Amino acid sequence: MALLENLEPKKVFKYFEEIAAIPHGSSYTKRISDYLYNFAKVRNLRAIQDEYNNVIIFCPATPGYEAAKTVIIQGHMDMVCEKEDGVDIDFKKDGLKLETSGDYVYAKGTTLGADDGIALAYALAIMDSDLIHPALEFVFTVDEEIGMLGASALDTSCLEGKIMLNLDNEDEGYLLVSCAGGATVTARLDLKYEQEKSAYRFLKISVSGLRGGHSGTEIDKGGANADLILGRALYTASKCADIRIVTLAGGNKDNAIPRSAQALIGVKDKSESVIEALEDLAENLKHEYRVTDKEIKLDCQEVESGAECLDKETTDKLIAMLVNLPCGVYAMHQQVIGLVQTSLNLGILEMDEGEARASFSVRSSIKSQKEELIDRIDCLMKMLGGTVDVSGKYPAMEYNGYTKLQQTLDEAYHDLFCERINFMHIHAGVECGIFADKIKGLDAVSLGPQINHIHTTEEKLKISSTKKTWELIIETLKRLARNY
Ligand SMILES: [Zn+2]
Repeated sequence: MALLENLEPKKVFKYFEEIAAIPHGSSYTKRISDYLYNFAKVRNLRAIQDEYNNVIIFCPATPGYEAAKTVIIQGHMDMVCEKEDGVDIDFKKDGLKLETSGDYVYAKGTTLGADDGIALAYALAIMDSDLIHPALEFVFTVDEEIGMLGASALDTSCLEGKIMLNLDNEDEGYLLVSCAGGATVTARLDLKYEQEKSAYRFLKISVSGLRGGHSGTEIDKGGANADLILGRALYTASKCADIRIVTLAGGNKDNAIPRSAQALIGVKDKSESVIEALEDLAENLKHEYRVTDKEIKLDCQEVESGAECLDKETTDKLIAMLVNLPCGVYAMHQQVIGLVQTSLNLGILEMDEGEARASFSVRSSIKSQKEELIDRIDCLMKMLGGTVDVSGKYPAMEYNGYTKLQQTLDEAYHDLFCERINFMHIHAGVECGIFADKIKGLDAVSLGPQINHIHTTEEKLKISSTKKTWELIIETLKRLARNY
């Protein structure tokens, strides 16, 4: 036991080890939530545990610093549970087996859960130390990793703080100061099949070999989207022959750029001219994506089938959807050079007997522009007689320039380590966005120690960086107590 007891900062690693011993995967947060709540109770700190297992602990200011503005310290208590093949662990019951190697802590054969157990460890260490700090509100949320459910459900009306340190950033030396909001948007179209059977020849069209990638981080890399390429191939085919769609499919996650897609079509005549036109298109695609998707392949082959075809109107509508629905980078940020402000990714194209569905991940750091994109999809689908539904909406933390909190951290970092902290923005959602939406005028940043390979069994926490970040946090709290 107490494998980490000699590591500095001692209290941080002591609590980190205690937390690692308590199962705390997403959806299984009762035990860790009770642990946090009891930690407060034995110290006579006011605490709230809500019905979702979120916990808030209120910690008064160091005597003499009561006038300073309250600060929220926030992190999530759930972790992603991954294990290597053959590792015997029940994440619902068992703790993790911690190990150290050089400057790193890891868990044997599993994720470490430093994302975001380290936030809890810092928080408990703060409560367990004699530090100079303003009044603190510690907010521990559940199920961040499965859609930020705890933060979304949290009642923040009991919070006084308008300054927030979120401790869920795995890049040391970086301060996250803005993030995108988003939503999943699904466009639906009812399918009508041809009444009379006519003689068709069938062609299978497949798009493959694309690089794909995460729609938050890779959308601006200029890569191809297999579903859009498929739409383009279908329109090309429709220009040289009378075609009917039989099936369509491509991609399985709205936030992943699809790497392949397929369609089966019926062609009344001139199937050779379709094949020829698609061969030309394949050559053009190779040229267009010669840098991002060198292996791109568009293939068209005649196949045997007796399948039912969609009628002409439905075929035309589906092609119109794929050719005209917006997709990709929509706007770049007007203040932050190189940051994608608004984008959307068509990630899932699927159909069953009743309907076809196209699902998008929409992201924007500007709320109204996110709504504009949703309206564009809605407007086109209305024209086509389809519908649109929106789910999983999450808010952005808009960029507010160089705030007082950023300045405090920037100066503290420089004074402590003689180097400058970097500012970062992401085109994805984090819990800060939810808090910024709920708490008017919130000045929030996200920071944390270096954690490599989060969400994988290679996850490891850098020990020296954990110390550096601890020093930054306590120095910042001291400055916020004195100067804010
Ligand atoms: Zn996290």
